[in-house]
Amino acid sequence: MIEKRASWNEYFMRIAAEVATRSTCDRRHIGAVVVRDKTILSTGYNGSLRRAPHCDDVGHDMENGHCVRTVHAEANAVAQAAKNGVQIDGAEIYVTASPCLTCFKLVANCGIRTVYYKEFYRDERIRGYARQAGVKLVYMGKKAGRKHRPLRLPMGTA
Ligand SMILES: [Zn+2]
Ligand SMILES: [Zn+2]
Repeated sequence: MIEKRASWNEYFMRIAAEVATRSTCDRRHIGAVVVRDKTILSTGYNGSLRRAPHCDDVGHDMENGHCVRTVHAEANAVAQAAKNGVQIDGAEIYVTASPCLTCFKLVANCGIRTVYYKEFYRDERIRGYARQAGVKLVYMGKKAGRKHRPLRLPMGTA
């Protein structure tokens, strides 16, 4: 069977999912792709500091039920742009899961206007902040008018 041609949104979200496979923390694999004018400006996945050991090798660094060893995918995508001097003002970001509040604030202040996400992850507060900041949140998960299903995670995991 021939797959129908992917829309731009599907194309970038699939790339974000591919980027996520590079994650170094197996608690969650997240990928992010920053795009403007259908061009990829930067990518990021949740991973350890450069040159620092990976969770996969030395275990997680847990704090309040979350692993804090990694830099989040969105933050890494923004950092990669900064490192290379790539302007991302007015761009869009595709993420495999919706940003945490810290990452949301970061991408909003980098001038990112739209956040496409595949699954909703945990923090409902981003909805209110997005409204206030004029940032669009676009859900790209399962369709058919179904309610956004939050990820089902055991208590205290991230
Ligand atoms: Zn970890
Ligand atoms: Zn985050």
